[in-house]
Amino acid sequence: MSNNLLIVLSGPSGVGKGTVVSRLLQKGNYALSVSCTTRARREGEVDGKSYFFITKEEFLRTIEEGGFLEYSNHFENYYGTPKKFVEKKLQNYDVILEIEVDGALQVKKSHPEAILIMLVPPSVEELKRRLLGRGTESEEKINARIARMEYELSQKDKYDYTLVNDDLDECVARLEDIIKRKKLTH
Ligand code: ADP
Ligand code: 5GP
Repeated sequence: MSNNLLIVLSGPSGVGKGTVVSRLLQKGNYALSVSCTTRARREGEVDGKSYFFITKEEFLRTIEEGGFLEYSNHFENYYGTPKKFVEKKLQNYDVILEIEVDGALQVKKSHPEAILIMLVPPSVEELKRRLLGRGTESEEKINARIARMEYELSQKDKYDYTLVNDDLDECVARLEDIIKRKKLTH
C-alpha cells in the first residue's frame, strides 16, 4: 500500500475549485481524478482531461459493473469517479477528487482515511459574481447552481475542513498545509 492520499474537494459551483486545484497541481506530486459525466461538453473542455464525456447508457453500465468509486445524479446529469483511474494514479500521486457532497460522503465511507475539504465563498454575492464572470452557464443554470449551494453548505460539518476561498494564494497555502499535516500522521 502506498502512503498516498485521496483529497476530496467540494464546494458550490463557481467557488473556485478548478482554480485552486490547478494551482495545487503546479506545486507538488498531485494528480487530478478525471470524472465521467453525461452532461454536454462546454466550450474549451477537452474529453479525457476535463471529464470523460460518456452517454447515459455507458454510465449506467459502468454503475452495474461496479466501476465507480462514487457517483451522483445532479443538475439532471450523472457524474462519477472511475475507480480504476484513481487506483492507478494513487500508486504514484496524492489524488484530488473535485466532486459534490453526496459523492464525497460515499468516498469517506469506503475510504475513511480520505481527507474531505469544503471550499466556501466569502459571500453569496461574490459567488454569483464569479459564476457570472466565468460566463459558461445560462442564467437558468446559474440559478440551479446557486439553489444547490444551500444544500452543499448544510453538509459542511461532515467534512474534515472548511476553507474560505477569499484570497487565492492564502487559500492554496492553507490547503497545502492541511495536506502536509495529514501526510505526517497518515
Ligand atoms: P468552480 O471550479 O468551483 O466551479 P472556478 O475555478 O471555475 O470554480 O472559478 C469560478 C470563477 O471564479 C473563475 O472565473 C475564477 O477565475 C474565479 N476565482 C476563483 N478563485 C477566486 C478568488 N480567490 N478570488 C476571485 N476570483 C476567483
Ligand atoms: P460542472 O457541471 O459544473 O462541471 O459540475 C457540477 C458539479 O458536479 C460540481 O459540484 C462538481 O464538483 C461535481 N462533480 C464533478 N465530477 C463529479 C464526480 O465524479 N462525482 C460527483 N459526485 N460529483 C462530481
